Amino acid sequence: MKITGVNIYRVELPLHEGSYKWSGGRSVEVFDSTVVEIKTDAGITGWGEVCPLGPAYLPAYAAGARTGIAEIAPQLIGLDPTQLGLINRAMDQALRGHPYVKSALDMACWDILGQACNQPIVNLFGGRYGETFALYRAISQDTPERMAANVGKYRAEGYTKFQLKSGSDVETDIARIHAVAAELLPGDVLVADANCGWTQHEAMCVAAGVRDVNVYIEQPCLSYEECLVVRRHTNRPFILDEVIDDLKTVVRGYSEQAMDVINLKISKVGGLTKARQIRDLCVSLGIAMTIEDTWGGDIITAAIAHLAHSTPPEYLFSSTDFNSYVTVSLAEGAPQRQHGRLAASTRPGLGIAPRREVLGEPVLTVR
Ligand code: MG
Repeated sequence: MKITGVNIYRVELPLHEGSYKWSGGRSVEVFDSTVVEIKTDAGITGWGEVCPLGPAYLPAYAAGARTGIAEIAPQLIGLDPTQLGLINRAMDQALRGHPYVKSALDMACWDILGQACNQPIVNLFGGRYGETFALYRAISQDTPERMAANVGKYRAEGYTKFQLKSGSDVETDIARIHAVAAELLPGDVLVADANCGWTQHEAMCVAAGVRDVNVYIEQPCLSYEECLVVRRHTNRPFILDEVIDDLKTVVRGYSEQAMDVINLKISKVGGLTKARQIRDLCVSLGIAMTIEDTWGGDIITAAIAHLAHSTPPEYLFSSTDFNSYVTVSLAEGAPQRQHGRLAASTRPGLGIAPRREVLGEPVLTVR
């Protein structure tokens, strides 16, 4: 099988709640998502998606994703999309770094491989653990009272894992964590995600201020080194996210006991191939994971579900259903949340069929 062409689409994804706010006063109102379509000489078409959390979250931005895909795609014409190792090597040779650019292309090739062998990706990733897996719900940054009020609303939708967007001033964040924790029921999970928003001394103050609260602390500071200092001074379980952008950092974090859980985002590490490599290593090392992406619609939610559902449940800390946050449906067949849980498709590949009327015309075509 050979790749004969790549189409790139741009889709806007507005939010049901109007906006999504996190540390440093950052927010997004309409997500700018990029969808790729890979065509083959076998008549099989593969789909992928990448959607950065705005331009100021990671070193990634939506227009950069499209520019980078346009740079790499000509190098993939004529290659066999079912040979994922060779595809990834070709992408790394065509463009150094820029992992998020490669994610949608890698995802589309997995979609093709699954269709070619008539298997859902979850099977190719090792198999399906149980019927469903649990999701977390992000609570957009707001006053402590309004954030606490959202816990009941999201629990009514079935969620029992809550990720509190913190990372602003110390006193407000301590108040947010206490206010939300007061709403928890036995078995609920609370994460305070600072998204790099605290300096080291601020993080130390927050950690001390919540030392008696049942809360996980996620990515308090910008650098790995600052996070490590906080980790070594807190009694709370600890999650690293933004700094975990490749396998080497996972190995370093493991050897230095820098975290209990990592947040594994597909596009942050360069696609499903590399995310699966990190997932398998973490399972072998005993590191639990939140498996998700930076954002996205139906295609990314489908891809997340295949990776999350093929992860042993004791190591799957949580996952995300981004397609329930946005008002636009990109594709039919994507998994839909039920009682706070999700399941990977049983159909071949990603198991989705894009809605052409939503995608519109490609913004770029490579042949
Ligand atoms: Mg995070």
